Amino acid sequence: MADPKENVLMEKLVSLCKRRGFIFQSSEIYGGINGFWDYGPLGAELKRNVKELWWNRMTRMRDDVVGLEATIIMHPQIWRASGHVDTFSDPMCDCLLTRKRFRADQVDVQSGIAYHFTGARDSVSGKVSQDPFAVLLPAGKPPESARKTAVAFYQLRGLQNVELSGETTEKVENSQRFNPENGALLTEPRPFNLMFKTYVGPVADEENVAFLRPETAQAIFAQFKNVHETSRQKLPFGIAQVGKAFRNEVTPRNYTFRSREFEQMELEFFIKPDEAVEALCGQVATPSTPGHPGTPQPDWGWQMWHQYWVEERIRFYESIGLPRTTLEEYWQKPDELAHYARATVDLLFKFPFGTQELEGIAARSDFDLSQHQRFSGKSMTVFDEELKAAWPKLDPTRQSDLSERYRLARLKYLSKTGEPAEKAEKQAAEDAANLGKGYYVPHVIEPSAGVDRLILALLAHAFHEEESTDEKGRKETRTLLSFHPSVAPVKVGVFPLLKNKPELVAKAREVRESLRSHFNVFYDEAGSIGRRYARQDEAGTPFGVTIDFDTLGERPEWKDTVTIRQRDSGAQERVAIAELRTWLETRLR
Ligand code: ATP
Repeated sequence: MADPKENVLMEKLVSLCKRRGFIFQSSEIYGGINGFWDYGPLGAELKRNVKELWWNRMTRMRDDVVGLEATIIMHPQIWRASGHVDTFSDPMCDCLLTRKRFRADQVDVQSGIAYHFTGARDSVSGKVSQDPFAVLLPAGKPPESARKTAVAFYQLRGLQNVELSGETTEKVENSQRFNPENGALLTEPRPFNLMFKTYVGPVADEENVAFLRPETAQAIFAQFKNVHETSRQKLPFGIAQVGKAFRNEVTPRNYTFRSREFEQMELEFFIKPDEAVEALCGQVATPSTPGHPGTPQPDWGWQMWHQYWVEERIRFYESIGLPRTTLEEYWQKPDELAHYARATVDLLFKFPFGTQELEGIAARSDFDLSQHQRFSGKSMTVFDEELKAAWPKLDPTRQSDLSERYRLARLKYLSKTGEPAEKAEKQAAEDAANLGKGYYVPHVIEPSAGVDRLILALLAHAFHEEESTDEKGRKETRTLLSFHPSVAPVKVGVFPLLKNKPELVAKAREVRESLRSHFNVFYDEAGSIGRRYARQDEAGTPFGVTIDFDTLGERPEWKDTVTIRQRDSGAQERVAIAELRTWLETRLR
């Protein structure tokens, strides 16, 4: 449970986001819709900045990553191949009394005395219910309230004058089987598939079922061949995508943290299998020290690449204003890993409601492309000319060792798919023989981040309140969002000192015009200059530019200069209008 102080922080943040137009509840005029959020004018700018910074860093600033923008609805086979149709579900249960729905693994753990009832009878009509029911009470609480809850349960089953039967008690510890709000028993957990279903075309039948994508990654795998062939990239290389994803979460909560419609920023970075690296380089480099392993090298195996991407992602967060100290690395334990994953690191952020996942970085072996190869019948192997040339030069023991390791890895995958043993053996032997000819299915490292969770993390980290006393001795609270300049929705506020002085207004507008094609500028002439600063502090605008009488030449030495105020320190300095753009540019990165 989050500490109450942290809940107060969330309340303040949610209220600021609404008041200043960062985030609104979707369809608010109709009472809202649970798990859906809209971004207002400031939120839209913030989000756009974050996505653009991710995109630039992951694609444009690198030679080895290219982009993709795929559709949200894809061929339904994609979700069979990926495993989502069969296994993308959460355990769900309902309160037997109120029908409120819970994610079974997220119910608060409770201890106490459980009162079980085998059924009940209506003492007037004689009607009987044999539905068992139970209520959990904290130890020491009188049993009457449990009986009252049980009576309400049987009344819902059509009994009016309820006589409870078969009452027994049981000591319960750390149970998730009862509704924390009323103690009533929950239904047995059952799997609930999180994919939103729809129909393609005019006939709403099973044949036309399609799904809204629950992640952007699968489109990257499905288009792997096209992108590889057209981009002329060689392994290792990556494909990046930013876009909407949809999950019918059982219990959306913590504001935008767990939404039903959200955006992801995903990279699939395709690498050579370790056996190919060893054949080419004579060895496979593995991490020897923690931290960033430096410039990628040809002998890197999957572990080096995985560590590299974990560190690259942390560096990204640092570059946009989330220090390393706000993040935690959680290395999933072997029993938590998906069966195909070799390692997964969750990057956690210390949200006000608890430390929770911001991004996952998984080493997913060659599972994804192998699955699409199997389901589509289209080859997902790449041809590596260098490997083909290197192979005959290896000594025969190494050749057979590498082939055998590759064969066993392929066999492990094929056996898990349920292929008959004989077929799996044959296929694995063929795959191993093809390795020596330069063919393999690429492995993948996947850094997968949520845009909305990152926005929430940036907002929570930026939120500050400062107490001060005004000139009349009144206490004031200054609220500010100390965004890193690169993500700030508005970069510069431009203010004429007074709005009723046409010369000041004209000059301020001129300054705004000179800046607006370079930065997002907000012009404001309403209210006192202090109020205008305060409004921009709340919006997280890092700089404010004021045009005053000195700008117009009242003090000749200050003609054509402006005052720049810095949001976080409140410090002010005088800068020539001619230098303003460069001054800002150097500080807005
Ligand atoms: P969780 O365990 O929190 O449900 P996950 O492990 O299922 O997350 P992934 O499938 O790894 O999440 O998705 C990658 C990223 O997408 C997550 O790290 C998160 O930032 C984002 N994400 C996933 N589900 C949601 C959601 N319902 N709302 C907002 N962002 C989400």
